[in-house]
Amino acid sequence: MEIVLDHLTKKFPGRGKNRQEVIAVNDFTFTIPDGKLAALLGPSGCGKSTTLNMICGLLAPTSGEIFFGDNNVTALPPEERGVGMVFQNYALYPHMTVEQNIRFPLENFRGKDRLSKEAMKERVLEAAKLVHIEELLERKPSELSGGQQQRVAIARSLVKLPKVLLLDEPLSNLDARLRLATREEIRRIQQETRITTVFVTHDQDEAMSISDLIVVMKEGVLQQVDSPQKVYDDPANQFVAQFLGTPPINMFDGELKDGQLWIAGEPVLRVAEGESVPEGPVSVGIRPEGFILLEGGAMHNEMVRPEITGRDVSVIFRNKAAKTDVVRSIISAEDWNHISGGEVHFDLKPAKVYLFAPE
Ligand code: ADP
Repeated sequence: MEIVLDHLTKKFPGRGKNRQEVIAVNDFTFTIPDGKLAALLGPSGCGKSTTLNMICGLLAPTSGEIFFGDNNVTALPPEERGVGMVFQNYALYPHMTVEQNIRFPLENFRGKDRLSKEAMKERVLEAAKLVHIEELLERKPSELSGGQQQRVAIARSLVKLPKVLLLDEPLSNLDARLRLATREEIRRIQQETRITTVFVTHDQDEAMSISDLIVVMKEGVLQQVDSPQKVYDDPANQFVAQFLGTPPINMFDGELKDGQLWIAGEPVLRVAEGESVPEGPVSVGIRPEGFILLEGGAMHNEMVRPEITGRDVSVIFRNKAAKTDVVRSIISAEDWNHISGGEVHFDLKPAKVYLFAPE
């Protein structure tokens, strides 16, 4: 089921002294293709939950429309939209067994939609198998780990065979190890069911690792909608460049002059032949993997310290001329063996250098 947001806006009336109206979601237009997983990504307060709640029908938009396929669902109540919803706090019923929890949504079917006892049992078992908890059906939620509880919540959301699955920060109550395992699980389940899924997160690693599409937002304004690779390689603006990437992108004040990029009085990169860039000050972003270790390279840096992981080395250095704060490069462990002394020289990989208008 394709999901289309068409000029979707949500305003909240102001509260408190100055009663400033909040535009939580400002004119969002984008499409999540059928069978894909999209992450809504951005810092706290950027409008992720508001967007999700409008897609599921818990909140009515101020203006704009939502389509599931050709069906305009903007005015439909949640129960008529065919969505499954998973929240960060699982929201399981503590007095019910896992089986009863998963079956619960089916108990609400009335009239001709009502399933027989056997059909319900089968559906519950199918959903439980999908999330690998069929051994736990007799247990109570209190007898489960956080990760298992979240699987139960996912099974419960899938038992009605929804056309769309909505997950609101589903991993944030899990510890680091379980969070990794559960996000792989969610990806597996999504790929097995091919159910169009919207996943809210403020964690860029999480968004990068599981989604087909990342919707980056800031203060209610869409910044970029693209594949994870594209968002990383070709960020639409400085905010996106800085929000995505571990370790984060390094920022410098720079200047374009005489066909070269200058950082702190050093020419560090020749502007590509035929590329006409306006001269003047620029904000320069360099990804950590954009530095090439080179004796006599254009950037002269003081080593602060290396962090050796075995596979590669994260070199923490200070650019001598710019006296910038500590910046970070990633080089291979092999290259690292060639470094001696307290000074490192780098050249830059042009594809990993981004220029933005100064803020
Ligand atoms: P996120 O999920 O990205 O953290 P939200 O969608 O929860 O962000 O909130 C977006 C903005 O809308 C925030 O400024 C928030 O304070 C405001 N907001 C959310 N819900 C309400 C509400 N019911 N009433 C007033 N303001 C709200």
